[in-house]
Amino acid sequence: MAELTTTLIHHPYQPPAGFGAPQPGVFKASTVFFPNVAAMRQFEWKDKSAYTYGLHGTPTTYTLEERLCTLEGGAQCLLVPSGLAAIATVCLALLRRGDEVLIPDNAYGPSKALAEGELAHWGITHRYFDPMDPADLAAKLSPATKLVWLEAAGSVTLEFPDLCAQVRLCRAAKVLCALDNTWGAGLAFQPFDLQPGQLPTLSVDISIHALTKYPSGGGDVLMGSVITTHERLHMQLKLCHMRLGLGVAANDAESVLRALPSLALRYRSHDETARTLAHWCQQRNEFAQVLHPALPQSPGHVHWRALCGDALGAAAGLFSVIFKPDVNQARVDAFCDALQLFKIGYSWGGPMSLVMPYQLETMRSSWPVYLQPGILVRFSTGLESAADLQADLQQALQHIA
Ligand SMILES: *Cc1c(COP(=O)(O)O)cnc(C)c1O
Repeated sequence: MAELTTTLIHHPYQPPAGFGAPQPGVFKASTVFFPNVAAMRQFEWKDKSAYTYGLHGTPTTYTLEERLCTLEGGAQCLLVPSGLAAIATVCLALLRRGDEVLIPDNAYGPSKALAEGELAHWGITHRYFDPMDPADLAAKLSPATKLVWLEAAGSVTLEFPDLCAQVRLCRAAKVLCALDNTWGAGLAFQPFDLQPGQLPTLSVDISIHALTKYPSGGGDVLMGSVITTHERLHMQLKLCHMRLGLGVAANDAESVLRALPSLALRYRSHDETARTLAHWCQQRNEFAQVLHPALPQSPGHVHWRALCGDALGAAAGLFSVIFKPDVNQARVDAFCDALQLFKIGYSWGGPMSLVMPYQLETMRSSWPVYLQPGILVRFSTGLESAADLQADLQQALQHIA
């Protein structure tokens, strides 16, 4: 008879199989047991037919990966510790010294910092293109171009590019294109079927998603995904991901699994509130421009309509305003400080509404022709009542008078 310490570790009890409940279990592991040495030599994690090590997958992460593939219409998924790590993984897996990556000028800021910092150090060059002018992308594609990033809509300025035209240019140049699909979240449009009903299907090669935002839904998880439809491309990304030692914590994966069933409902609610407030802002005289792809005057509205359905198509809970040029930074800051329900903070997708003033001139190669001059403030709508949020905006606007 073994001693108690040993028995508590090697306990004989096995719970009955067949436990069913609304949420899948959380499997936490670095070590994974093999039934015997032959199995250890045979088990394969790359095709998810077995388990070999916590970093290579658990029932929890395999389940989340499969559900995210369904969400975005992809076939394979990798989980990484943040949205930015998803962008970095794609760049590291696909780019070598001497290669060039093209990035839209309105791209998520840290993606540009990655190119200007790490990629440049490794001899990988980058160029920024005008997201609203396919001719500019066409002109910048060269034999050195190995990857093109796309983003719809821009996450601060909310302009909606002609994504189909951009993908067609990449196809014609035989260059891989990766979409930052965080705004669309797999709900506003299908990244791997951009022209439903038309053949051949127009599709991006890779979709990355900051699960930190809507899929997490809580403002309390950092995670990203890299989704593909081509097995060979997936393997190239997966081996890089494995060699870099990237993985996610089981409890974080569980948080996202728990939030996924309400994703579409939450997205619709964020969307409705953002549209209500964007329309309201358009009636006010403090703003030179209101940016939201569903507003007919917003840059790229026609492309949003074409891709996301019609006027009733989906959009995320983001909109930005550009204050009239006579409203200076101090007054804009006072407006942001005066907001009570909108908290000052980065990111989006959680239950609380957020506000952030941006210094656009420091973020873009040049001031876009389609944007009015003035200070830009971005709002991310949470799940609060739209009427309460509107009242909050109204009281805070008194501070710019
Ligand atoms: C937030 C965000 C990211 C990065 O996600 P993190 O998990 O914060 O690293 C990437 N792209 C877009 C468009 C985002 O909004």
